[in-house]
Formats: sequence, C-alpha cells, structure tokens
Amino acid sequence: MKEDANAGGKRNVAEWQKGLIRQDEIDRYLVDGKDFIDDDAIEAEIARGRGAGADRVRAIIKKAYDIKLMDSADVACLLGVEDPALKEEVFKAAREIKTKVYDNRVVTFAPLYCGSKCVNRCKYCGFRCDNEAIERRVLTMDEIEAEARVLAAKIGHKRLVVVYGEHPDTDADYIAESMRRIYSIKERVRNGVGEIRRVNVNAAPLPIEGLKKLHEAGIGTYQVFQETYHKKTYAAVHPAGTLKGNYPWRLYALHRAMDAGIDDVAVGALFGLYDWRFEVMGLVAHARDLERRFGLGPHTVSVPRLEPAADTDFSWVTNRVSDDEFRYLIAVIRLAIPYAGLIVTNREKPEMIRSVIKMCTQRDADTRVGIGAYTDDFPAGAATQREENQQFMLGDTRSLDAIIRELAEMGHIVSFCTAGYRCGRTGKKIMDALGSGREGCFCKLNAVLTFQEWLEDFASPETKRIGDEIIDREMKEVRARVPADFSEAMWEHLVKARERILRGERDLYF
Ligand code: SAM
Ligand code: SF4
Repeated sequence: MKEDANAGGKRNVAEWQKGLIRQDEIDRYLVDGKDFIDDDAIEAEIARGRGAGADRVRAIIKKAYDIKLMDSADVACLLGVEDPALKEEVFKAAREIKTKVYDNRVVTFAPLYCGSKCVNRCKYCGFRCDNEAIERRVLTMDEIEAEARVLAAKIGHKRLVVVYGEHPDTDADYIAESMRRIYSIKERVRNGVGEIRRVNVNAAPLPIEGLKKLHEAGIGTYQVFQETYHKKTYAAVHPAGTLKGNYPWRLYALHRAMDAGIDDVAVGALFGLYDWRFEVMGLVAHARDLERRFGLGPHTVSVPRLEPAADTDFSWVTNRVSDDEFRYLIAVIRLAIPYAGLIVTNREKPEMIRSVIKMCTQRDADTRVGIGAYTDDFPAGAATQREENQQFMLGDTRSLDAIIRELAEMGHIVSFCTAGYRCGRTGKKIMDALGSGREGCFCKLNAVLTFQEWLEDFASPETKRIGDEIIDREMKEVRARVPADFSEAMWEHLVKARERILRGERDLYF
C-alpha cells in the first residue's frame, strides 16, 4: 500500500482544511451576489458570434492593434470564424500584435515541483489523492535548494515557477520559505554567478493572509488556473467536498492576491475539459473582472492542454482540443488579451511549440516535472521522466541550450530579464507601459544584456556563435532607432554595460 497522500506530516489534514476557505473572501468580490461567469450568457454569445461576416471580423482584427482587452461579443465572432483564409488573417494579426507589444523576445523559465502530496481529487491529475500509482514526496528545504542550484548554476535559468499540490505540508509558510531559500542561492559559474532572480508561484488558492506571506517573500507572478470556467464541468471533475471543489474560491484567488499586494497575477485554463471556445470567453471575462476591480488585468495567460498521467483514465474526455483548434485559440487569445504574456509549455511537443511561438512570449526549457527530478541521476541519453513521480507527462524535454539555439535560428532573442519587477515596474505601471509600447524599449535593452550574460556563462560553442550574431543584430537595430526610440545616452549605456558583462560583471539592467 502506498503512503496515504492525505496523511499530513505536520498537521492533521481535516483540521487544516476546515479553516482554509473564507466565505467573506469570496463574497466581497461578487456583484449583486453573482460571480462574473454566466454560463448561459457565454453560450448565447458564442452562438451569436458564429458566422459573423468577413467585414465584421476584419474590423475586429483592426481594433485589436489598439492593445486593449476585447469585448466579449468580438471575441465570440473570432471564435466562430471557419473560413481558412480569414483564420489566416487572425494568425497574421496575432503574430504582428505579439511583435508590436513584445518584439522578437521569448522569455524562458523552468518549473520546480516541490511536492506531490495533495488533498484534492481532480479527475485529470496524476497527483489526485486517491491515485496509488504516485510516489508521494515533499521536498525538504535542502532538497529544494539542491534542485534550484542545478537550474541556476548548471542550466542557467534565472526565472522559476515553483509548483505545489494543495496540502498542509506545502502550506503558505512552506511556500514562502522555499522561495526565500531559492532566492538565497548564489553560485560561481564559468564567468559569472548562477542565481534565480524571479520566483513565480503556481499553487492552490490561498486566503489573503497566506498570500501576504508570499508577497513578503518576493513572489514574482502568482498563477492559478481555473481549469474550466464552465460550472457544470468544473463540478464534474473536482468532486464536491474537496477544497478544489469550491469554484468561486478558485475564481477569486487572483482577486485576493491583488488585495494582498501581489499585483502580478496569471490566469489559465486546462484545455480539453470543456469546449475551448467557452474557456477563451472565460479567460477574457476573468481579465475583465480584474480590470474592473483593480484597473489591471492578468500579466500572463497559460494554455495547458490535457496530457496523460499515471494510472489516470481519460476515457470521459469529450472535448479534446485538436492541434488546429489549439493553434487558433492561441491566436484568438493573443488578440483578445493583447497586453498579456502568453505561455506555452513543454506539455506540448517541439513541433507544436515551434508553430505557435511567434504568438507567444514565454516557454519553459530543460523541464523536469518529477519531484526532485533535477537532481535525479538519469543515465546519459535516457528519458528524464518517470510516470510515477510526476503530475503528467511532457512533450518536450530538450535542453535550454538546444531551445535557445532553435529560437535564435527562428530570429528570436531569449530574454532572461527580471528587471521590471525588481525595480518597481510591475502591476499597472508595466501593463500600461506594455500597452503603449514604452516597456518594449527597456525590455529590448535588457534582453541584450541578460542574453549576453547567459551566453558567457552557459552556452555551448555553437549556441554562443548563433547567439552572438543575434546580439550584434539587436545592437544594430537599437543604434538605428536612436534618437527616435532610444536616446544617445541609452545607447552609450548599453554599449558600456555590454562591455562590462563581457569583462565578467553581472546583473546590469535598465
Ligand atoms: N495544485 C495546484 C492547483 O491545482 O492549483 C497547483 C497546480 S498543478 C500542480 C498545475 C496545473 O497543471 C494545474 O492547474 C492544471 O491546469 C495542470 N494539470 C493538471 N493535470 C494535468 C494533466 N493531466 N495534463 C496537463 N496539465 C495538467
Ligand atoms: Fe492536486 Fe492540483 Fe493535481 Fe488537483 S491539479 S489533484 S489540486 S495537484
């Protein structure tokens, strides 16, 4: 018999669960006693959007270049497009809008799973508590540090998303402590220093009190995926009586984060649970309600698709999203929430990621999602996945070096910039700047500096060669945009900062 996933190491699970959900931290966000997802109204809107004329669709596409959250009626029209040629126009706009807001930059990160214990029974997840095929483990702080050292000092990541099941052994105090431990790492590497400069968190909804602890520990982005916005489906896959079974508690997790001082939040839906069109409408409604309440939408949107998991039956799934639908829904989200970063993950296969990356802003690399897997000794050339140790299986496990080389060959510069959040350009400040194109200037310069750092400290000779070419090209472009977009002083500062990096200085940014 496997260890009971419900067994709390530190505390009694039933006791811990009892006080966690605070009804008043749901009710305060309702409008006239209702949440912002009206299933029937969304279905009706999707139906009305079907078959919109090409002129209407083209007008919507044109308006998307204003970089404002799209009206739900317009989103529904885009979702209803079936003509392949018109869809192509949506794709083209999605690529152009990505470039308008984020240029040719792609940000990379790695997930770090800290525990597989979970009190919930999400039907699709390998970590659900009644799954006996999973080895249950929660990393100690020393183990978390060892994992993060591999990511920071061997691979060269600067940005992590730390991931937890919902369990008293990985409560808010544990999450905050693990973040502090990760931030404390500084390890000498080839020419510089390996360190994690931004820790994002993907964890179950917390009360405001718990979220404040994450804020104090220096959280980057707080991600909570609603999984499905469709209430009936939500209830069918998250059994009643479990913490996750409470739909509105999850729906307002990011509102609570804002009230706890975390002004950088991320939405997502698990595509495949319900009709993908409905989920896109739900994501847009979520962004709208955050804007309404806090004047600020989500910083990023994630689009995970259902993947196989150990001993997990998926025969009940009737809404699988095909590759073509997946690509198109990414394009629609790009237009609908144009200021937000869009994250595609290594759940997908390399070919799929290649085909959507020009519409996206972030991807992970060198990913392992097993608990303790970065320090696991997998024999050279062997698979780095063990089904019984992970939540789901990955489609792309290539190295950061290989991914950076591929992205460079496609014309992208990989940015390791974490400056925005560290010098106060977060929340409304950064979102306004992104919308107006201003942030792009800082980001472009910081991408050059942080990419150069990575090339010096971690790149293979071949990747270094291609990477240096990209940097030379970027420098030429910046020079050509003086004084229109960059001042002479900025240009000089960039040249000097790059020289300092080549001489071994680190962490220079605008
Ligand atoms: N336990 C936390 C929670 O539920 O919010 C942390 C999230 S979980 C470790 C990260 C995300 O993985 C989930 O929010 C879900 O969207 C996704 N996920 C779960 N099972 C999956 C599967 N079989 N395939 C793909 N993604 C999955
Ligand atoms: Fe637990 Fe999250 Fe998996 Fe649900 S998705 S079983 S809450 S780890």
